[in-house]
Amino acid sequence: MKQPAYDKSLGRWRTWHDDEAPLRLGVSSCLLGEEVRYDGGHCRNRFVVDTLGRWFEWVPVCPEMELGMGTPRPTIRLQEDGAVVRLVAPQTGEDFTRRMTAFSKKRIRQLAKSDLDGYILKKGSPSCGTERIPVYGPKGVLRRNGVGLFADALSNQWPALPIEHEGRLNDAGLRENFIERVFCRNRWRTLKRRGLTRGRLVAFHTAHKFLLQAHNEAGYRRLGKLVASAGTVSDRELFASYEDGLQKVMKTRATKKKHVNVLHHALGFLKRDLDSRDKREILTSIGDYGAGLLPLIVPLTLLRYNIRKHDIGYLQGQLYFDPHPKELMLRNHV
Ligand code: SF4
Repeated sequence: MKQPAYDKSLGRWRTWHDDEAPLRLGVSSCLLGEEVRYDGGHCRNRFVVDTLGRWFEWVPVCPEMELGMGTPRPTIRLQEDGAVVRLVAPQTGEDFTRRMTAFSKKRIRQLAKSDLDGYILKKGSPSCGTERIPVYGPKGVLRRNGVGLFADALSNQWPALPIEHEGRLNDAGLRENFIERVFCRNRWRTLKRRGLTRGRLVAFHTAHKFLLQAHNEAGYRRLGKLVASAGTVSDRELFASYEDGLQKVMKTRATKKKHVNVLHHALGFLKRDLDSRDKREILTSIGDYGAGLLPLIVPLTLLRYNIRKHDIGYLQGQLYFDPHPKELMLRNHV
């Protein structure tokens, strides 16, 4: 794989990641096609395996198998018991709550040492599901807002980690947001591994300006103030606060409206170089994107072409125009 270094001569980040800091994601084992489900089957997810698998290294975890439940095994479910929710096998009455809670805590501590960039979980599972898991009472389903025990522990113990369930990856916007966060986290990890300095922090922040603005303009400005305050706090404090703020900004979903603002902002840098026809064409494509008639990739491609043609160095350094591999086609939807 190629080097992700910030290349001063090119004025931009050369590429995504390197062999020493691969994009590494935790994943529910059954999504990779491993036969670990209660019935001995799997839930192989083609997008996860065939598309994302080209870019990501997986750390598969099946909490139920690792707990020693084996396969085939009785089904388990969340069951309300007074103020607590238990993980039980209704057929046998066996209660797995304590064991699963203890296992999750320990396993997530181990995973934290694997430098993950994100996690993809199986939806609908009382262990791995992140939302809307049925919680049973004596007479059937009481509510559908439970969270799987392992998933709950993962998001509580590791709030900065990008986590999604496979079902939400079917939504183009959520998918793009998640993968953008994963790549951003990986670039930050790479930077840390290579040695963070104040100068490199400034370069990182500058290169991410438009990308951060597309997620959270106010958050981007807060990060900018933090970078500018470099002399008043220790490096350690500065880098830790920046990392925390960066994860929060990237967690906010980029919307069409925010992208439109960023595209207009980028166009502003070109206004002296474009003739009125080229400018109108870009403006029209931005308007059509905003109206849902064109995918984001269209105005971006027009802008990218003109940025290169007119050699606008500052914009060439913006990761916003190239935040993840084009083969993922994350910006090709309307
Ligand atoms: S959903 Fe989680 S616990 Fe269930 S089979 Fe898949 S990996 Fe194992």
